[in-house]
Amino acid sequence: TVVSIKSLLAGRVAQGSEVEVRGWIRSRRDSKGGFSFLALHDGSAQAAIQVVAPGELANYQADVLRLTAGCSVIAKGVLVESQGKGQSFEIQASGIEVCGWVDDPDTYPIAKKRHSFEYLRTVAHLRPRTNTFGATTRVRTVLANAVHRYFYEREFQWINTPLITASDCEGAGEMFRVSTLDLMNLPRTEQGAVDFGADFFGKEAFLTVSGQLNAEAYCLAMSKVYTFGPTFRAENSNTSRHLAEFWMVEPEIAFANLDDDAALAEDFLRYLLTQVLENCEDDLAFFNQFVDEGVLARAQKVASTPFERMDYGDAIKILEKSGKKFEYPVRWGLDMQSEHERYLCEEHVGGPLIVTNYPKDIKAFYMRLNDDGKTVAAMDVLAPGIGEIIGGAQREERLDVLDMRMAEQGLEGLEWYRDLRRYGTVAHAGFGLGFERLLNYITGMENIRDAIPFPRTPKHADY
Ligand code: ATP
Ligand code: MG
Ligand code: MG
Ligand code: MG
Repeated sequence: TVVSIKSLLAGRVAQGSEVEVRGWIRSRRDSKGGFSFLALHDGSAQAAIQVVAPGELANYQADVLRLTAGCSVIAKGVLVESQGKGQSFEIQASGIEVCGWVDDPDTYPIAKKRHSFEYLRTVAHLRPRTNTFGATTRVRTVLANAVHRYFYEREFQWINTPLITASDCEGAGEMFRVSTLDLMNLPRTEQGAVDFGADFFGKEAFLTVSGQLNAEAYCLAMSKVYTFGPTFRAENSNTSRHLAEFWMVEPEIAFANLDDDAALAEDFLRYLLTQVLENCEDDLAFFNQFVDEGVLARAQKVASTPFERMDYGDAIKILEKSGKKFEYPVRWGLDMQSEHERYLCEEHVGGPLIVTNYPKDIKAFYMRLNDDGKTVAAMDVLAPGIGEIIGGAQREERLDVLDMRMAEQGLEGLEWYRDLRRYGTVAHAGFGLGFERLLNYITGMENIRDAIPFPRTPKHADY
């Protein structure tokens, strides 16, 4: 029977069983006794399984002794207890079938040594063969499933919001424009170049920066909803926390205020961390080696300690009094940069932190105006090593105030969005969690380009 390496290593298959494993060679070591040890991985687990290939195999000389890292192989044999250190099982092979050779082992881009992340980004199609990218891929899968399970168990509906949209959620720049292109009939400029146009069937349209506005519509009918999908931002800067294409989880709850929103964010994050701790033991142990604080200890602590809360005004005072030389200025009314966010949670709090009630002028029009007339019911969840990981708010449910805020920010239209305040409006709130930022926080990986299989950043869109 075909089995995954994960199930073998977990002891789910009885010793003495005939098994077949399929995967890629990580390494080969030949023994003086005339047999070879093959380390085979198939992506299901952090570890490889050891396959012992005896010299008696008919193709031992012709095939086994030519195997190099990266070759694809089907191995059949008996599962036995291993004499080797650090592994409980191995396969005594009765057959090794080579499916694909590596053209030139000397130039195989993922040879068995440690590569820099910069280098691995240039071979994004091969990096899943490394330990690190195998591990991030598995943790990403566990996290994504945990997101859906969390909401499903709490009776949220999953709403797929459009990726092509005419409404710019933040009322800011940073959007990619969608254009139509008829390949059979390419429009040309007078100079003869292809004219890519700039329209979606005659209207201006963009790739979405957030599914929130649409999610609000469903929230005000279904009570509890969430979106989980890709979002796009034309961030033309090279930071380690911004991608041009990233995934966002956006819940939206009705009959709820900012406190309910913060409580949801905290409970959700703690649930996700607990799920990863329970289901990614080996992979977290792997990441644990590379992070001083230890990703395991950190995840356990965060999963079990209530988050600190702080008013934006107090946060600014702490930053001003810190005596720290920041690159960007700190003053009431300015948005915080990641250096400020990181100072607050790393050096002041020593853990995640929820900052609330930001000045209205640095936040989007839809955030609910507080009674002071100067701040809005917004919150950011900040995490050590990353900074902002969640941005959320109670939404403005009063039509007259919404209109005033839209006018202030020079926004027009959005009649459908205004309708939601005309027909059965109610207090509601929600947030957006950057999925890759969370993945980096949990794994301790430093660059967001390494948290998504094929990162999209300035100059990187080929594969
Ligand atoms: P930042 O201040 O870091 O630029 P933001 O305030 O612009 O983030 P929001 O509009 O609040 O981001 O989006 C919600 C969440 O989406 C953020 O808290 C963050 O986790 C994530 N996020 C935002 N922009 C990006 C991006 N370019 N790449 C990856 N994740 C992002
Ligand atoms: Mg931003
Ligand atoms: Mg921000
Ligand atoms: Mg934000």
